[in-house]
Amino acid sequence: MILKFGKYKGQRFENTPESYQNWLLNQKWFKIPKKQPLYKQLNGWNGYSNKGQAIYDQIFEQEKNHYINQGLECSCGLRKFKEDKYCKGDHCQNQGL
Ligand SMILES: [Zn+2]
Repeated sequence: MILKFGKYKGQRFENTPESYQNWLLNQKWFKIPKKQPLYKQLNGWNGYSNKGQAIYDQIFEQEKNHYINQGLECSCGLRKFKEDKYCKGDHCQNQGL
């Protein structure tokens, strides 16, 4: 699957550094408080199955809506602080100046 947000936007999740994958799976917004959290359903997924893609899309939709509602997403798609207009990315910092 292609990541639709964040630092590695446009890249395949399975091609991102393992540290990033672990980071992503440890994010509070990535954890959905259900009996079977979606992120757990992704454990062991090789990144190619339709089931995994569907689960990932659900996560993405939930995450995207959460960001938009909370004002936590920069216009570039990266996370930002609610009180900041832009994320910490250089491209956006320059834009802010
Ligand atoms: Zn940004």
